[in-house]
Amino acid sequence: MMETNTLYREHILDLYKNPLNKGIIENPSFSSKCYNPLCGDEIEIQVKLDEDNIIENVKFLGKGCAISQASASLLTEEIKGKTLEEAKRITREQVLELLEIPIASGRLKCALCSFSSLKEGYTKYNGGKNESSN
Ligand code: ZN
Repeated sequence: MMETNTLYREHILDLYKNPLNKGIIENPSFSSKCYNPLCGDEIEIQVKLDEDNIIENVKFLGKGCAISQASASLLTEEIKGKTLEEAKRITREQVLELLEIPIASGRLKCALCSFSSLKEGYTKYNGGKNESSN
């Protein structure tokens, strides 16, 4: 048995091998990337909103460790179908809970890479909408 089996529960490895919502959205409402230099994780999240600001589709592209990739799968799955406002209320604690394993402080950036990408996307999207007075 490899030592990773004690570090990662099986569902994390499953998501790493068979990620959810991995791919490209042709015309996303917004997209944003994160890069975690500590580990080399890279994640780009693309979000497509419908006219009622409901997240009708969300996908990610990325590479990196199992935790970062599993977290992206779980987070995209979590926000799909929510309104933008509901999705924004998700906290980093909730993202960590989705992983269902304790995350060591050294791996927090891995677990939260997709989350920080999404946060940046929200900010960019709102910024673009509200800057008409410029
Ligand atoms: Zn990582």
